[in-house]
Amino acid sequence: MEVETKCLHEGWKPKNGEPHALPIYQSTTFNYDSTEHIGDLFDLKAEGYFYTRLANPTVGFVEEKIAALEGGVGCMCTSSGQAANMIALLNIMGAGDHMICASEVYGGTINLFGVTLEKLGIECTFVDQNAPDSELEKAFRPNTKLVFGETIANPAISVFDIERFANLAHRHGVPLIVDNTFATPILCRPFEFGADIVTHSTSKYMDGHAVQLGGAIVDSGNFDWKDYPGLTQPDESYHGVTYTETFGKLAYITKARTQLMRDIGASPTAQGAFLLNLGIETLALRMERHSANAQAAAEFLAAQPEVEEVNYPGLKSDRYYELGQKYLPKGASGVVSFSLKGGRGAAVKFMDSLELASNVVHVATVKTCVLHPASETHRQLSDEQLVAAGITPGMIRLSVGIENIGDIIKDLEKGFQAVR
Ligand SMILES: *Cc1c(COP(=O)(O)O)cnc(C)c1O
Repeated sequence: MEVETKCLHEGWKPKNGEPHALPIYQSTTFNYDSTEHIGDLFDLKAEGYFYTRLANPTVGFVEEKIAALEGGVGCMCTSSGQAANMIALLNIMGAGDHMICASEVYGGTINLFGVTLEKLGIECTFVDQNAPDSELEKAFRPNTKLVFGETIANPAISVFDIERFANLAHRHGVPLIVDNTFATPILCRPFEFGADIVTHSTSKYMDGHAVQLGGAIVDSGNFDWKDYPGLTQPDESYHGVTYTETFGKLAYITKARTQLMRDIGASPTAQGAFLLNLGIETLALRMERHSANAQAAAEFLAAQPEVEEVNYPGLKSDRYYELGQKYLPKGASGVVSFSLKGGRGAAVKFMDSLELASNVVHVATVKTCVLHPASETHRQLSDEQLVAAGITPGMIRLSVGIENIGDIIKDLEKGFQAVR
């Protein structure tokens, strides 16, 4: 099956007489005939559902679908993208460990890695993702445990050179984790370029309609965890199970669930998974339209004299055009960022005069929306961090929806009229 077909037919595969749509298993727990059977479930000797914090059938079918879309061996959904990134990291790191992260990643991720994880004793070095290998090599330490980046960074819209970073990480025996939220597996599948783990905020394009927060962690099954004792040594909290020995290629994703989801409990709900599945059914169609509309909007913006700069990898003039051609050949997704020559004041005026585009703290949804990172999502960052994240005070993030492109451009014209 091609990816468009997988969006509809992976996961829930109804048998004779079963519901056509994915059923919602609205139950925290599941019945068994014997205590022995439940004991086997706890010991991971038998497969089955017992408590929704760990696993739920509705969620499970969506996990199967996301794993298939990314080409991974397993997936675990979480209650949000933040939870997905946190669990993806904590699964292989602890106090005293170090990680490397591209500085242009999502603001929430910068706070999580740079502040909250630091309090837990994990150190993160943020690097310029466009620095040469010789420079990046210097960031590695003996206790470095992973490298992290975003396929398309939110909101700088820079394209991450996945293959280059995978090679760098592997030379140092550590995995590359890629947050693939903005590209989605429709436009880019990071495992094909050497990434080991993929994460998602499914709250964005996968859900697509701004109705349900969620996250996902997908395991390629390719990384050799030999230098990660948490995976190769017995887990005392799980009756001495050794993940790599018992679960092979599924070691990482099994540990994430049985150890961290058990302990942290950032579980998605069955209702939420149902909505996510519905969103994913049309993901391929939507990404095509989002990309085509964003390409047209970016070209329109680039032609306006009031615009200082447009960031969109689909533009030939864009700094990331070449990388975009390599990693996003089917389209560069729906998010464009641009800066007005008038700076912060002009950006606010522009945004406030739009009528069709909603002014919301969200992105990557069916309806066109705008956001001013410097005064909204990224207001906790210092000016220095703003620059490192690729954000200027006059930058507007335009999330191009699937409306008629003529209507979107008419609305942008209203913004330009206001600042002229
Ligand atoms: C939104 C976002 C997150 C955080 O996801 P939530 O679902 O809001 O918790 C993480 N990474 C990227 C790239 C995002 O856009």
